Amino acid sequence: MSAVAFRASVVWCGPGRRVPDGVVVVEGARVAYAGARRGAPPAAEELEVDGFLMPAVADRHVHIGLADPGAVLLGGVTAVRDLAWPPDEIFPLADASELATFRGPLIRAAGPMLTGPGGYPTKERWAPPGTGRELAGPEDAARAVRELQRRGAAQIKVSLNAVGGPTPTDAELAAIVATAHGLGLPVTAHCEGEGQVARAVGAGVDELAHAPWSERVPDDVVEAAARTQRWVSTLDIHSYGEVTPQLRAACENVVRFRAAGGPVVYGTDLGNGPIPPGIHVREALLLQEAVRMSREGVLEAMTPGPLVPGAPADLVAFRADPLEDLRALAGVVLVVRAGRVVRRAG
Ligand SMILES: [Zn+2]
Repeated sequence: MSAVAFRASVVWCGPGRRVPDGVVVVEGARVAYAGARRGAPPAAEELEVDGFLMPAVADRHVHIGLADPGAVLLGGVTAVRDLAWPPDEIFPLADASELATFRGPLIRAAGPMLTGPGGYPTKERWAPPGTGRELAGPEDAARAVRELQRRGAAQIKVSLNAVGGPTPTDAELAAIVATAHGLGLPVTAHCEGEGQVARAVGAGVDELAHAPWSERVPDDVVEAAARTQRWVSTLDIHSYGEVTPQLRAACENVVRFRAAGGPVVYGTDLGNGPIPPGIHVREALLLQEAVRMSREGVLEAMTPGPLVPGAPADLVAFRADPLEDLRALAGVVLVVRAGRVVRRAG
């Protein structure tokens, strides 16, 4: 297998590893080396990147069926998690996305949201039939999880949206979490309405699909959440560039969650309103300016892991340095997915 070297003015390999005049050597779909040019293994082919090279972005909350997968990929996002779509559509698409030639990001899917009878999102205009699966008791809940696991679900999504309709019962929620964990699947929840975050934390839900915005989460719940959960940001969907009470509430909860040691990852809820495909610069800026993460912390939240040998050869480069100004994230000049150059400027 012949190696390709991507040489760049700056390579950001991960937190604390900003390498001027660096290089990333790729073999097939994997990183073979990332770091200083001196000490790099030889490569059959070399590409010079005038800019800042780093791991490509992962968006942890999308509805890819409402977006253009090709535009997502060309926008610097090489992996997404789809957090609710009809299983007959999303699982075949996720399978197809594993091919390096797929015109889009790698898709890992939850399938439908597990919900109560008539619950969110079964009546939502954006949600085609099958986007929500209505549960009929704890045994049915466990069966639903097992079916989804067989079909290739990467995680289980549960609707705890008490504003949008009935939610799963406590017994159903317990069955979902126990069955999913028994199969090695994490559970992620949409929490909306007072007390739903506490319910999720109490039931052992691993992740919130949105930073909670519909209540000020009590301090003790935030602290318990910080020990067991991670939160997906999706801040900009509350305001699309404006400042709203919902955005303020979400940021305030995230600030306390982070102060208690809780991890936050980048996600946009692409498909929900006017969120652009690809890297969403405003979401990154909100994490920096409203949640007070460092620029490097934001990049860490946006990427699946550092550039180390064996990591996926998924790369993105920008004309300018986002560690100096996150607005540089708007200037994508190179996208590499699974070792293949899918976009190159100039
Ligand atoms: Zn969503």
